[in-house]
Amino acid sequence: MRLVLFGPPGAGKGTQAKRLEEAYDLVQLSTGDMLRTEVASGSALGIKVKDIMEAGKLVPDALIVDMISGRIDEAEARAGFSLDGFPRTIPQALSLDAILDGKGLKLNRVIELRVDDEAMVERITGRFSCASCGDNYHEKFHPTTVAGICDACGGARFDRRADDTAETVRARLKAYHDQTAPLISYFEKKGIMMSIDGMADIDDVTRQIREALD
Ligand code: AMP
Repeated sequence: MRLVLFGPPGAGKGTQAKRLEEAYDLVQLSTGDMLRTEVASGSALGIKVKDIMEAGKLVPDALIVDMISGRIDEAEARAGFSLDGFPRTIPQALSLDAILDGKGLKLNRVIELRVDDEAMVERITGRFSCASCGDNYHEKFHPTTVAGICDACGGARFDRRADDTAETVRARLKAYHDQTAPLISYFEKKGIMMSIDGMADIDDVTRQIREALD
C-alpha cells in the first residue's frame, strides 16, 4: 500500500504515520525528518536547507525529489510506505507520479487531515520531545507525568524543533496554503483523496484512517 498523509503543519501526519508503520508495516517517509537529519549531520544538503527551514519556507523541489526517490526504492522492499510531508507542490506531485510510473506502481490513497490554522499554532508551539528516546509531548495537551522527566525512558533532556516558533509556524502555514493546498484538487481529480477530521483526538483520527484503509 502506498499512501500520502496530507495536511498543514501540526495536523498530526507524523503521529499517524508512525501508528500506520506499526499497524500495516508501512515505512514512514518523512521529508521533514530526512532534512532535519541532514541539518544535524552538517552535510552539504543540510547546510543548503537549514536557513530555508528555519524561515518556514519550502526547500526547492529538485533537492526534495532527489532526496526522496532513493528512499522510495528502499521502502518498496516492505509492504509499502506512507509519505509524510511530501509532495508539497504540484511539481513534486508530478515527480512522484513519474517515479512510481517508472516502477509500474501507483498511489493507493491520499488521506487529508482537516484542521484549523489557529489550533495548529497552539499545537506546534507547545510540542517537545525527549532527547534520548524521541517520545513526543505537548505542554498543554500531553505533558510528562512528572515535570521534566520523560514517561517512556526517564530522560531529563528535551528538544524542540528550531522551526516550531509562532512566527515560523505562521510562515509554514502560509507556504501550505499558497503552495501545497492546490494539491487537494490535483488528488481529487485522481479519485484517491479521502478527507478526515484531524481535530478529533489522536486515537479517533487513527480509527478513521484505519476504517478508510480497511
Ligand atoms: P515538516 O517536518 O514536514 O513540517 O517539514 C519541516 C520543513 O522542512 C518545512 O517547513 C520545509 O522547510 C522543509 N520540507 C519538508 N518537506 C518538504 C517538501 N516536501 N518540500 C519542500 N520543503 C520541505
